[in-house]
Amino acid sequence: MTAPTFDRLIPPTEGTRVTIDGQGRWRIPEDPIVCLLRGDGIGMDVGEVPGITTCAVKVLDAAVKKAYGGKRRIVWFDVHAGDAARQKYNPSVTDEQINSLDETQQRQLYLPDDTLKAFEYYSLGLKGPLTTPIGKGFRSINVFLRIRFDLYACVRPVRYYQGVDAPNKNAHRVNMVIFRENTEDVYCGIEFASNSEKARRLIDFLNREFGYSILPSSGIGIKPISPEGSKRLVRMAIQYAIDKKLPSVTLMHKGNIMKFTEGAFKEWGYEVARQEFPQQTVTEDEVYSKYGGKAPEGKVIIKDRIADSMFQQIQLRPDEYSVIATPNLNGDYISDAAAALTGGIGLAAGANIGDRAAMFEATHGTAPKYTGKNMANPSAVLLSGVMLLEHLGWDEAARLINRAVEATFAESDEIARKGPGGKLHVTYDIARQFPGYGEKAGVSSMEFANRIIYHL
Ligand code: NAP
Repeated sequence: MTAPTFDRLIPPTEGTRVTIDGQGRWRIPEDPIVCLLRGDGIGMDVGEVPGITTCAVKVLDAAVKKAYGGKRRIVWFDVHAGDAARQKYNPSVTDEQINSLDETQQRQLYLPDDTLKAFEYYSLGLKGPLTTPIGKGFRSINVFLRIRFDLYACVRPVRYYQGVDAPNKNAHRVNMVIFRENTEDVYCGIEFASNSEKARRLIDFLNREFGYSILPSSGIGIKPISPEGSKRLVRMAIQYAIDKKLPSVTLMHKGNIMKFTEGAFKEWGYEVARQEFPQQTVTEDEVYSKYGGKAPEGKVIIKDRIADSMFQQIQLRPDEYSVIATPNLNGDYISDAAAALTGGIGLAAGANIGDRAAMFEATHGTAPKYTGKNMANPSAVLLSGVMLLEHLGWDEAARLINRAVEATFAESDEIARKGPGGKLHVTYDIARQFPGYGEKAGVSSMEFANRIIYHL
């Protein structure tokens, strides 16, 4: 692929592009170039005041330096999306004018071609939160990126940190990674409104040709789930469990009711395990029928659970679940439910990953009321950056950050347990959870980042 030419961006003069070979293996240089979308609201710097993305990048760079002593480093390439892009590329377009633009023009306003070219060429990105575009045509930057680059897996790690106020008493046993299919299911947008011409024609066809008795006034939605889409997601989840030496992959589905979509997802998932990972995996049934209830050393157990029971399971027996692979809608619900178990929206990291590109991003929004205040929690962007490090295979640096974040939360927890008035080292959102401490006891985003660096 030839290097793109940009309208407004100046590509880095240092660093090397990551590439993906014919077998789909990522080739990672010692100095990979990664696109950085700082984001809007709390994501962006305001004058000298750092946003959460700048704070997170500082910790990531420090951890890489500490782990590899200058042998490795990330070269960040600042690119733009959201309000930041609009201000840089088209500052004169007013909100009133937006609805008169066509969908492509609206997209270019919030997601310029420069940014798409950069991501296409460099394949990796770290993204802060972005304002949802206004206007009726182009709706979502995230959805556009997902489709354009076929980022088919939405990956969300969920774990507990000591000191974070979690609503569930089993929260300390939560440590899971959810792989949500990102491209299929009812999210394809194939929907027809009640009493619309298309809904009526479709209902008429189904009733006439297949003998159903759907009420003619119904709205209709279609749920496509394919073997290709299911298998590539489950393949990624199993490979992740193998690479990280995790005990199990659970296929979460509602196949007892939706047999040929969710049920098929489960069957295709087992098929991938059987056909492509026969040495590394064992099914839960085999664990009991062949191995007396104890999985052979080093094998990943493949099991499945019905979606509704899974919502009980993650609350009652969270430590039995490590990697969860699931279709799109289930994944949407379970990701948020699992994150809620452990508390702290500022901690929810995520990534959208495909075979030729990956975007790592905080799952929270721009929290506009905290813009330019240097007080929001940078952990979600930072932990998304940790996922980026893991994707690069830089596990030592990733581990350093995880331990330092744990230590930073734990020390404030211990200080707070001694009673009010202690000096905490966490941001306002965590500080206010401690009895006798309020938001004002929190430190700034950058002080919190510096404390994590201190613990590296
Ligand atoms: P939000 O930005 O996530 O903020 C809601 C509340 O969550 C905040 O007021 C704050 O609670 C807490 N919060 C979020 N991030 C935090 C952090 N890093 N540190 C501490 N607290 C944090 O949700 P919203 O207000 O509904 O959405 C605002 C904008 O973000 C909208 O334009 C929305 O479309 C967009 N959005 C973008 C993304 C994305 O880019 N991925 C995702 C969701 C929403 P307290 O006020 O209680 O402290």
